[in-house]
Parts: sequence; structure tokens; C-alpha cells
Amino acid sequence: MYINGQWCEAADNSRFPVSNPATGDILGDVPNGGRDDVKKAIDAAADAFKSWSKTTAYQRSQFLYRAYTLMIEKKEHLAVTMTSEQGKPLKAARNEVQYGADFLLWYAEEAKRIYGETLPAPRGDQRFIVQQHPVGVVGAVTPWNYPISMLTRKIAPALAAGCTIVLKPAESTPLCAVEMFKIFEEAGIPEGVVNLVTAEDPKPIGDEFINNPKIAKLTFTGSTNVGKMLAQGAAANMKRVSMELGGHAPFIVFEDADPEHAAKGVSLVKFLNTGQACISPNRIFVHKSIAEPFIETLENRVRRMRGGNGMEDGISIGPLVGPGAVEKVERQVNDAVEKGARLVCGGHRLLDDGLDRGHFYAPTVLADVREDMLIYREETFGPVAPVLTFESEDEVLEKANDTNYGLAAYVYTPNIGRAFRMFEGLKFGIIGINDINPTAAAAPFGGMKESGLGREGGHEGIAEYLETKLGGFSI
Ligand code: NAD
Repeated sequence: MYINGQWCEAADNSRFPVSNPATGDILGDVPNGGRDDVKKAIDAAADAFKSWSKTTAYQRSQFLYRAYTLMIEKKEHLAVTMTSEQGKPLKAARNEVQYGADFLLWYAEEAKRIYGETLPAPRGDQRFIVQQHPVGVVGAVTPWNYPISMLTRKIAPALAAGCTIVLKPAESTPLCAVEMFKIFEEAGIPEGVVNLVTAEDPKPIGDEFINNPKIAKLTFTGSTNVGKMLAQGAAANMKRVSMELGGHAPFIVFEDADPEHAAKGVSLVKFLNTGQACISPNRIFVHKSIAEPFIETLENRVRRMRGGNGMEDGISIGPLVGPGAVEKVERQVNDAVEKGARLVCGGHRLLDDGLDRGHFYAPTVLADVREDMLIYREETFGPVAPVLTFESEDEVLEKANDTNYGLAAYVYTPNIGRAFRMFEGLKFGIIGINDINPTAAAAPFGGMKESGLGREGGHEGIAEYLETKLGGFSI
């Protein structure tokens, strides 16, 4: 763990192991932090806040630039750590490291754009100014599916704003976090500004974040259930929260779209990170008139995908995070097939050639999916593409919006009017129109409804770490 600029063990000296989800091999172990450790880290961050919040935006920017440069220099090492620990194919890991580094670069610039305002005052002898101030010490919790970019997406804007931070990474991917904190140390970020607490049991850490009066803000990325619980706890103490939670993205293909092009798009975005992405399509609505060529192209592409260890060439399907994830996928697929879905391809675990040592499930396409199936409501977080058909624009818009989630949605159509109607009608925070990757460090990322609160990335991302302060001056 990294607390107050020092690498340290847990207070009780315990550690926990980290394994490779593709092989089951133990990669190493890390300190198993508890409540005393996180308290110590919060104290350090609170002390450091006194001076860090007084640094100039130009100084903070320089630290972030240095961390960006180091990340790019160490890109291959970070990517290999990620593939070993998280499982995604090496090429995807490299892309994630770049995406993660982009947040450091973007917020190195945004630090210098924390502007204020002067306002006309109602009295002649009065002047109003508005400034933005850092909220204070931030408690951050990140998931395992994007173990580096989810971390920089929080740390970069927090530091740029003048906040200090204590981060708890997911228990299955602490090694990526350790490598990132080595970079922050090498970048010369002053002691106590960034602190890392690794823990096998997240609950005591979350409880301390919620209850410790020195924490001003909680930022969380993970499942909706845990997010709701943490937000409830934070509300009791009126702490600020940002919540990036689950999704259940609709992917809508209209009759005027090219079915082959759309099927290619789905195959790329659905199976990215083996379906373990919050913006992964979870209901693929295809117009009835083009369903056949769409499914045929999708099937052909999916049958060519190879599952295996992401360190090997030609692998596009890595392991799932653990046995529970495989069971969830299996349960959803079996439920759908029992209720009448057509299994187009896949639908089983991958066990040959040593894959039984990891957590692999074959890339799967289901057709004739219906609303009474589990997969229609539950986030899958696995390599399953469920296809449904529709007949009219109104019908598909209503169905797409019929979910408690509101993170990402995708639409394929060349009709500009329809594209606008869908963009405006879909109740989701991120909408890709003929575009499967509507994300970047410069763009606001986040969800509506139970997909979360607040945005990360873009100029919105730094506002999450700032408080507005009004000064009224009588002259
Ligand atoms: P999870 O909620 O189980 O875990 C996420 C993090 O929360 C981990 O660090 C975990 O240790 C921690 N955690 C769990 N219980 C906690 C508690 N009681 N107190 C404090 N921390 C606790 O989610 P997961 O399964 O690891 O991640 C997948 C979920 O994350 C999916 O639902 C996915 O959609 C979501 N996600 C959302 C985004 C987004 O930007 N909206 C991005 C990535 C992942």
C-alpha cells in the first residue's frame, strides 16, 4: 500500500493473493488493508490537502504531465500487468493504458481552466465574485474490468482540482493500481496527495469512507447495488458522491442500415473485454426485415473469435473475472434457451486446451430473445449477444427505454431525422449513432437513472471535485 508517500504493509501485516483469471496461477500478493490502514491514509490525505489545495494550477498540471509521460514510457509493462491480472487480450490492454493516460493529459490542461465569474450585484455598493474550490479529501473505489483507466479517470481530475485522494482498487486487480502508484511516486507527487489502500474485504474501507468526517467526497465505479448502498451511507453525512454504475445498453439497427456493417459493429463492441464493460450492448434490437442477414454476419464473425490467454496472439475472448461470472452467464443463457431463445452459436464453457484452469465462456449469440427472459433485464457482463426484432421506431424507442439503467445506447441508421429523434428520445447518458466507441477523455461519461450520478471525463469531470463559492463584497 502507498500511504503518505511510503510503501507499507497492513497494520496487522496480513496479505492476500492475486491470481491470473486465464490460468489460475498466483501472480503475487498484496497487503490486506483494514479500517486502521484506511484511517491512516485519510489522515495523510487530510494533512496533504492543506498544502496541495494551495498549489497553483500550473504546478498541479506539471505533476499530471509527468505522470502521463511516465505512463506512456511504461505502457508495455502496464499492459502486460493488466493482461496477467485481468485477462483482456494484450492489444486491448495497451489501448486501455493509452485511454487511461489520456485522462492525465486532459486534466493536466483542465487544471488551468478552473474559471470563476463576476456577477452584476443588486446594490451599487456591492460586488459578487464566484470561485471554484476543491471539495477536499476524496475516497475512491474502482472496479476490476478497467483497472487502470477507471483509476486515472478519478485521480487525474481530483488532483487537477486541488483535492487529495485515497483509492481502494478492486480486490482482483490491485497489481495494476500498485504499478500506477509507482508512477505517481516517480512523478514526484507530494506525500499524502495520493494514497493506495489494497484490501480483500472492501466493506470496512467503504464504511470508513462513508463515516470519516475528513472525507468530503466519495467517488465510486462498480455495480448499481453497491453504489446505492454507498450513496445511502454518504447521504447520511451529506458527503458529495459521484457514481458510475451498471448498464444495460440497447443496440438498435433500423431497416435502412447496412445489416453487415451493423453486425460488425455489434461484434466489436459486445465482445470487447469479453462483454465485461458497463457500456456493453445487452439488448440488440434489429428490424425484422433485416434480421436474417444481420444474424448471419454476426454468427460468422463470432464463430471466428478465439478464446484463451490474452498474452497469446489472435485471442479476442479473454477469461471472465471469476467462477461467479461464468455461472451468471450460464444461468442467463440457459434461462433464455429454456424460454424459447434460439442458440445461434456458443452457449457453453470453454474447457479444452487447458482453458478449464481459467474462467472461460464461449462467445455466444442468442436469437428470438423475449422480454420475459432474465437476459432482457439483468446486466450480463459476459460474452453473450441477445438479439430481438422490432417493427416500428416508436415500439423500439419504448422498449429500449424500458429499463432501470441509463448508461449507453447505440443506434444504426443513415436517416438523419431518425438519428436525431433517437438521440433525443433515448434516456441514456451516452449515445453512439453509427458509432461503437463514443468515449474519450475529453467527453462526459456517465449514466442516467440507476446507472449513476455525475460524469467523468470532459470539463464535467473536474466539476465533480469542485465546490462553488460566492463572495459578496460591500465596498
Ligand atoms: P462491484 O460493485 O462488486 O465492485 C466494484 C468495487 O466496489 C470494487 O472495488 C469492490 O471491492 C468495491 N466494493 C464492493 N462492495 C463494497 C462495499 N460494501 N464497500 C465499498 N466498496 C465495495 O462491481 P464489479 O462487479 O467489480 O464491477 C462491475 C460493475 O461495475 C458492473 O455493474 C459495471 O457495469 C460497473 N462499471 C461501471 C462503469 C461506469 O463507468 N458506469 C465502468 C466500469 C464498470
